[in-house]
Parts: sequence; structure tokens; C-alpha cells
Amino acid sequence: MDYLGHLLIGFLLCLTSIYFLYPEIVSTESEVILFLFIGMLSAIIPDLDHPKSKGTKIMNGTVFILLILFSYKLFFITFSSDSFIIFLFFSAVFCLAWLGLSNLIRPKHRGITHTLLAVCVYSIILYFVFGILFLLAGAIGYFSHLIADKCFKII
Ligand SMILES: [Zn+2]
Repeated sequence: MDYLGHLLIGFLLCLTSIYFLYPEIVSTESEVILFLFIGMLSAIIPDLDHPKSKGTKIMNGTVFILLILFSYKLFFITFSSDSFIIFLFFSAVFCLAWLGLSNLIRPKHRGITHTLLAVCVYSIILYFVFGILFLLAGAIGYFSHLIADKCFKII
């Protein structure tokens, strides 16, 4: 299934869940939007194990922007350099290093990221960082991906 299908199933499952979570967990309009956004984002997270997935492309684009901003801060602010070529060179080196590292540590497709253990770990991290709304939205969105892929492995 492509990312649009996963986004749609994540959206529908989260929308249905809001009916049962209202008003204890989700009560305001902004919480509904946040819940749906986190759920849909979580629905494409499991395919980060695929090098050509939409989630991987979004993650790489985000990391590239952060690395370029890091290079900018490092060379133009921290070291007060005025060499644009050095900035470009190190930005490229950082981005290539990220690509190499992410390809090196990427698990096999539909492996550990497509398990119920991954849903639990992902949800618990969201809970401790952001709270109960993120836990539920993340768990439902992530689980919707496993349903769509028909992956129900525990580990
Ligand atoms: Zn998948």
C-alpha cells in the first residue's frame, strides 16, 4: 500500500477513535486537528524501513534542512567564517554522512518496525515526551499501518 492509503486509513481510524475519546482526551478543535495529524504522521512511520517510502523522503528532507542550518550556525556564527564554499562543502558532507548512516542502520522492510512491539515502544516514547493524547494518536495511527499491511507479528 502506498503512503496515501496509509494516510487515509490512519485518518479514518483516528477520526473514529475521537468519537470514543471525546471529551476526556480530545475536547477542543485544536486537539482534534492535532490528534488527526499525529495519527496520520504515525501511519507512515513504519515504512521508514523502506529507502524509497514517503516517510523516509520526508525524514531525509527534514534532516537535510536541519544539517544545513547546523552548518550555517557552525561556520557563519560560531567560527565567524565568510567562506560560502566551505559552508556548502560541509553541508554536503553532513548530508552525505546522514544518507550513509541511515542506509547503514535501516532495518529490513517489514521487519522490526512492522511489529506490535514497535507500536508499544513508539507509543511509550510519545507518552513520556508529549503525553496521553500523543500516545493514543500515535498508537492508533501506527497500528492502522500494521492493519493495512496485514502485519500482526509481536516481535
Ligand atoms: Zn509498511
